[in-house]
Amino acid sequence: MNLFGDMEEEATMMGRRTSTVKIDGKDIELRECPECHREVIGLIREFRDGKVIRTFCHRCDEDPNSTAATVTRKLHEHAIAGTLDQYPLAERIADLNGEKVSKSN
Ligand SMILES: [Zn+2]
Repeated sequence: MNLFGDMEEEATMMGRRTSTVKIDGKDIELRECPECHREVIGLIREFRDGKVIRTFCHRCDEDPNSTAATVTRKLHEHAIAGTLDQYPLAERIADLNGEKVSKSN
């Protein structure tokens, strides 16, 4: 699953406006949501028949508890707080799949 890498690539290819903020000494790149125009860390893409039919952010998601909204919201909150390293890839993938991560694992 290369969801976040794909988002990055698409944003670059399409020349979407991004801005960079410095949090805790790290450069965090934000993207503008095409629906609400808030700047967020990651956008959610909805596919139908292999095409992107909608690009939006976790704040625009009608279901704030959907797996995609959960992952992007957590990414955003951790990024803003400068604690992105506390939300490892394994946990992102588990959230995306709607699984619970066992901390003792
Ligand atoms: Zn939005």
